[in-house]
Amino acid sequence: MNYIVLDLEWNQAAYKVDEEDELPFEIIEIGAVKLNEKAEKIDEYSVLIRPQVYPFLLRRTKEITHITDEDLDREGIYFDEVCPEFLTWCGKDYIFCIWGTSDLVQLQRNMAYYHLKLPWKYPLKYLDVQKLYALQMEEGKVRRTLEHVIDLYGIPKDRPFHRAVDDAAYTAMVFQRLDREKFESYFSIDYYRLPKNRFEESTYRFNTYLKYVSREFPLKEELMHNRKVRELPCFYCRRNTKRVVNWFSDSQKNYFALGECKEHGLIRGRIRIKTAEDNMGFFAVRTVKPCTEEYKELILKKRDNLTSKRRERRKRVSIKAKQVKAEIKEKK
Ligand SMILES: [Zn+2]
Repeated sequence: MNYIVLDLEWNQAAYKVDEEDELPFEIIEIGAVKLNEKAEKIDEYSVLIRPQVYPFLLRRTKEITHITDEDLDREGIYFDEVCPEFLTWCGKDYIFCIWGTSDLVQLQRNMAYYHLKLPWKYPLKYLDVQKLYALQMEEGKVRRTLEHVIDLYGIPKDRPFHRAVDDAAYTAMVFQRLDREKFESYFSIDYYRLPKNRFEESTYRFNTYLKYVSREFPLKEELMHNRKVRELPCFYCRRNTKRVVNWFSDSQKNYFALGECKEHGLIRGRIRIKTAEDNMGFFAVRTVKPCTEEYKELILKKRDNLTSKRRERRKRVSIKAKQVKAEIKEKK
């Protein structure tokens, strides 16, 4: 299996009113580096794309990439022509490696805009090199820029930054320095195309947690009432756990719960609600981990705080309502 290290440059509308809803970011350059299974470089790919939606480059885009409108007019090829050629170059058996999470989304969005067939099997797994670097070097906490990491490794900067094929080449150099055996279990899952039904929904096992991605629901309420979404399986055996603390939220986006497996003890769950790519609905990403007694106390405290806050708010609202009623009565 090969690695396709991909990087894109894109352009957008100068003003929000000119924005095309289905294509907020138009790809203007594709760059990629192909690595074999030993992560040795075997090929490079680079092409400029002639824009069809936003005909002029933003000044910011020009400043960052040093690409000009004239470059695109002279050398650019239309996306719908070049994309199939690029996918042929990628080959049959590969996994995408990307710095961050956005390029794969933009590639699929641009393809969908031109009604090109998305050739991948879903769920689409990829490697986020920025995340892998963070996991290996900084316990996953921060996200560094590509140039920062290149400096840290002391890699000579003999190519410019912010051109697609050069950034792909630098990303590949970082990738080659990572411990591949260790990180390949830390793949990412693309959220552009969500599971279409409950049969397509999957739970993935990572070293320290289970991750489940739901299908899309039109309403948040419906999502959080779904039985599958609300499940809390054991991290070790995946059997359903007995609920210790039911799902509660600290905001509109995060839900927490605790469960207990007879055999494996306490389990903690977290659901993050995300907006689907089409902006028409919501989906859930649920992670499940083993839980310590300390974390259990923390969660119980969090829930109790929220409950008492809500109770107080309700009290205040009802007092206010009584006052208003009394005032109306007096006026009559
Ligand atoms: Zn268990």
